[in-house]
Amino acid sequence: MSINVESLRKVLELEHRKGYVDSAVFGGLDKFLKNWAGQAVESITDPQLVNRFHKLHLVNPGYASLTKQQRKEWVKAVLDFLAEEELREVEGGKAKLTPVANKPSSRSRVQRAVVNQSIDLPITVIKGISSSLATKFSKLGVKTVRDLLYFFPHRHLDYSQRKSISQLTEGEEETIIANVWQAQETRLGGRRSTEAIVGDETGNVRIVWFNNPYLAKKLATNMRIVVSGRVSLFNGRHVFESPEWELVEDRELIHTGRLVPLYPLTQGLRPRQVRKLMKGVIDQWAWQVEDFLPPGLKERCNLLELPQAISQAHYPEDETIKAQARVRLAFDELFILQLGVLSKKRDWQEGQSGSPFSVKASVLETFLKSLPFELTAAQQKVLKELLTDLGKSQPMSRLLQGEVGSGKTVVAMAALLMAAANGYQGAFMAPTEILAEQHFATIGQLLSRVGHQEEGEGYLCSYSGVLSHPLTVALLIGDINQVRKQELQQRIASGEIDIIIGTHALIQKGVEFSQLGLAVVDEQHRFGVTQRSALRQKGFSPHVLVMTATPIPRTLALTLYGDLDLSVIDQLPPGRQVVKTKWLKPGQRESAYAFIRRQVASSRQAFIICPLVEESEVIQARAAVAEYQRLSQEVFPELRLGLLHGRMSADEKDKVMRRFRSGELDILVSTPVVEVGIDVPNATVMLVESADRFGLSQLHQFRGRVGRGQEQSYCMLLAQNPSEIGRERLDLIEKIQDGFQLAEEDLKLRGPGEFFGTRQSGLPDLRMAKLSDIALLELARSEAIRLFQTDPSLGRPEHHLLAKELARVWPKDTELS
Ligand code: ADP
Ligand code: MG
Repeated sequence: MSINVESLRKVLELEHRKGYVDSAVFGGLDKFLKNWAGQAVESITDPQLVNRFHKLHLVNPGYASLTKQQRKEWVKAVLDFLAEEELREVEGGKAKLTPVANKPSSRSRVQRAVVNQSIDLPITVIKGISSSLATKFSKLGVKTVRDLLYFFPHRHLDYSQRKSISQLTEGEEETIIANVWQAQETRLGGRRSTEAIVGDETGNVRIVWFNNPYLAKKLATNMRIVVSGRVSLFNGRHVFESPEWELVEDRELIHTGRLVPLYPLTQGLRPRQVRKLMKGVIDQWAWQVEDFLPPGLKERCNLLELPQAISQAHYPEDETIKAQARVRLAFDELFILQLGVLSKKRDWQEGQSGSPFSVKASVLETFLKSLPFELTAAQQKVLKELLTDLGKSQPMSRLLQGEVGSGKTVVAMAALLMAAANGYQGAFMAPTEILAEQHFATIGQLLSRVGHQEEGEGYLCSYSGVLSHPLTVALLIGDINQVRKQELQQRIASGEIDIIIGTHALIQKGVEFSQLGLAVVDEQHRFGVTQRSALRQKGFSPHVLVMTATPIPRTLALTLYGDLDLSVIDQLPPGRQVVKTKWLKPGQRESAYAFIRRQVASSRQAFIICPLVEESEVIQARAAVAEYQRLSQEVFPELRLGLLHGRMSADEKDKVMRRFRSGELDILVSTPVVEVGIDVPNATVMLVESADRFGLSQLHQFRGRVGRGQEQSYCMLLAQNPSEIGRERLDLIEKIQDGFQLAEEDLKLRGPGEFFGTRQSGLPDLRMAKLSDIALLELARSEAIRLFQTDPSLGRPEHHLLAKELARVWPKDTELS
């Protein structure tokens, strides 16, 4: 028999979801049925079936003229009929296990037709979920029916291959269907337990359930059960030990004989209870989920329907469809994410028009010529990309990635100079005050090579001979005195100052620019997500350049920063040395100190990174002070040591950094604040305490503080008692120099959430998508771009649901970096 159950079932389920308005098929159900039933009836040979077929008026139900209630009843009756029909077909055919195990039974089919409520209601609307059960689920982050539908198992046990008892293999997870011959309570290892003997046509096997005497009463002789679990050997005979089991009934198997889901659990939730509950929820509610993807897209990308995907992700019929379900759900996540970031980008670029800069070739050339080095090819390429962007009236939105020491600052400086040459202001923002000061110093040095420093104070310098007007650069940081600060702010507001260097607070606190044309944000992974849009709130659409030394794997970059265009400096300036990295055993501390002494003796300098103390910055600072005292009094009494920690005032920090940079200090003892950006070419040794507690990328950042000059540099890592994962990291950092490769490894070890703090970043969760899903990500991105080209506001009726979903995942006030 070959009636096409599937196509009719799909149509009817759709009709149910659409609320019985006869819109499931083009032209109406009557027309569709006439066609379908005409073919189907010919292939039915069973007289009983033909009878029922006609009773249902399948050939001509007059659906159009039924009331809604009548339609509902009729659809339900037909779905029941189809479910039975499917069952019959499987029985006659090639069922893998048993009919009931493989195909949804009629009962579940009926159930799915009964609900018509929003899936955003709390889970207590579900029959069987009490408020105390709801509390347990809320601990798992599950509050609404939707949450429950998206509460996916972390994996499945494959109990789908049925064996006969004679085929059982010791040590394997096996599934059998058998009759209970006897079941009784017994004592095993002093505990009340259950023992049963079950059999099929090939033999008998013993089952024991430890510590569970109650089963003995449930298992009656001659009951037919499905048993799934590990087979072991006892006294030379096979035995199942505490397997999953369930009755063979007219309903789908939940715990055995299939791919069985394993859910994350919390105190007070039992696996069998959750599975049973989930099965009911899926059957009843999955079909209520509106599929928000436009049909054309689904077809193009070969994606499952959403309800089907949800249901198959929980209770898959087989591995193939389970994989398809994951693809569909992962696609959704990536697609919505891409739509979100693209719409942010569009808002950014089309919200207000920016300021096109023209390339002032002579200014640029003079600047580049004055540098003590030539730009690397990679720097030149990136500079070109920047200049092209800056020439457009659409504001630039670009991420510049480049290894530690690859020379991002000078490229950014050239862009800032272009802003100033075009009469705009440029802002250069660093994550810490120390770095802001360093940039101020660096930029000062670069500019004095081009022009003459006219006036100069600690926080304000002016250079003539660079532009047609004096070029004024200011440093604006937290604790310069109030009067000066106000004066500076006034001069920024009046447009007198061309380039303003500061921390990220520049854009947050009361700084008013007169003509902000370009904002450069250094070390973006420290740059919170809300800051960028703060710029807009100031009424500017400057070009934005975000720089990071944290190499972001491409997938992650596209996922998290899909709204940014990407530039990469993938080349270090010539002559850079590989930093020799060594993980030392705790017993080698003394020789590490001796090594530092020798380096200092040949007039090099060293960093010592203090042990990481997590509680608070205050405690961290206190620990650093103690370590500094110990080192300067007990270990290196003859050397000049300095201390740097986050609780020092900017003034103090600045003093220490200056002394270190000018060679007045031999060793800089520091908390991890030294992590980013600090540039002291004469520093050749770094010692990192409790190195196992830092992430790979962070260790790589530390290491990047040395090896910036011509001398061979060294990084020594101390770890007291590293964990497994700590050891793995230390091994990797020893071996790998390439930041990108380390980032990939870091990603594998830590997962994307931790890697970038996605959880705090206001980005939607990725549950199904993996960062290795590059092809899927690119598909999602290209579909998102395509959609944006045709219907940017998602205003078309076929995109209505999609717009709704987008608004749900990305509420209006979500701010993306
Ligand atoms: P990062 O990309 O880590 O911010 P910096 O911009 O601080 O790197 O540059 C690191 C060092 O390399 C600086 O001392 C800088 O002057 C120097 N540098 C930059 N570009 C070049 C180059 N093309 N050739 C030689 N040295 C360079
Ligand atoms: Mg830098």
